[in-house]
Amino acid sequence: MEVMIYSEDFRIFRELVSAAESLKPDRISAAVIGERSFAEEARGFCDRVLFVESELDYSPSEYAEMLYQAVNSSDPQVLLVGGTAKGTPVAAMVSVMVGEPCATEVTDLKLTEEGLIVKRASFGGVAISDVKVGKRLFDRIASPKIACIKPGFFTPAEKTKNGEIEKIKPEVKKRVEILEIREKEVGEGFEDADIIVVAGRGVKKKEDLSLIEELAKLLGGVAGVTRPLSADLHWAPNWIGMSGIPVKPKLYIGVGVSGQIQHIAGIRNSKIIMAINIDPQAPIFEHADYGIIGDLYKVVPKMIEILKS
Ligand SMILES: Cc1cc2nc3c(=O)[nH]c(=O)nc-3n(C[C@H](O)[C@H](O)[C@H](O)COP(=O)(O)OP(=O)(O)OC[C@H]3O[C@@H](n4cnc5c(N)ncnc54)[C@H](O)[C@@H]3O)c2cc1C
Repeated sequence: MEVMIYSEDFRIFRELVSAAESLKPDRISAAVIGERSFAEEARGFCDRVLFVESELDYSPSEYAEMLYQAVNSSDPQVLLVGGTAKGTPVAAMVSVMVGEPCATEVTDLKLTEEGLIVKRASFGGVAISDVKVGKRLFDRIASPKIACIKPGFFTPAEKTKNGEIEKIKPEVKKRVEILEIREKEVGEGFEDADIIVVAGRGVKKKEDLSLIEELAKLLGGVAGVTRPLSADLHWAPNWIGMSGIPVKPKLYIGVGVSGQIQHIAGIRNSKIIMAINIDPQAPIFEHADYGIIGDLYKVVPKMIEILKS
């Protein structure tokens, strides 16, 4: 049984290797589009790398065509794609090409007699469902079941292999021309942070985020926010949680965070969860290892004072 993986991001690629390994396949192959150095690195993680030679800029339709050709050059029963803004549309298009369904936002997966079963959040994250992807697993050649793996849910794999590289050069017409690329503001290394201090709606003004940032800095960590502070108030470019960035630091501190399910789903893999909240009934305390019931405007300055001294 072969699992093929594809991601344009190397860290997520390594997470896909772990996801693939969890299915205990006979062989893991990787499709790499365009970047020779990525293909060279990928060898260390896979049995075979299909290097798709291409000069084309990213565009979902062209990349999907190339990934489809990589799939056809091999015989994977499962195709795992990094569930990023670039990866997911590519997976969706390949799914149409191979005539098999594609499960998105997958957080875990397994193979059973029934086929590929994936876990994904449902009803806005209130429930987690087990979903069977397609009917049978081994019914047709080159018709892999496809799953987009949500970043942050698998530990990046280490190098253990020395796979072969095979080049393919599909004829793909350029349909999209990129006129300009503007960098988006991104969050500050949440994936690698050991300590994350998250501000919630308990923080009343944007200026007060400096308190949270100062606490994070003194602890040697980074500061983040919940979704309302980012998506509604635009105080930060991204948020922590199920629909934002899932994190698993050694220490998570939620400051004025209520602990709704969609936020908890993205922090539940943290080693230690600490909450500071004025409301003793706040749901976050059900998930917290340590809790301080109190006004953040009194508690946080006190913590800062103690840390400084
Ligand atoms: C499809 C969907 C996806 C979502 N995905 C995410 C996600 O990925 N991440 C995310 O964060 N949210 C997500 N949400 C939103 C989520 O449901 C909650 O609305 C959000 O997490 C609440 O943010 P909060 O805890 O900052 O605010 P609130 O729920 O308003 O909580 C504020 C808390 O601050 C406390 N507080 C108030 N004043 C003080 C004070 N002075 N000192 C101490 N504590 C105080 C209050 O007691 C309260 O518990 C999603 C929602 C949907 C529908």
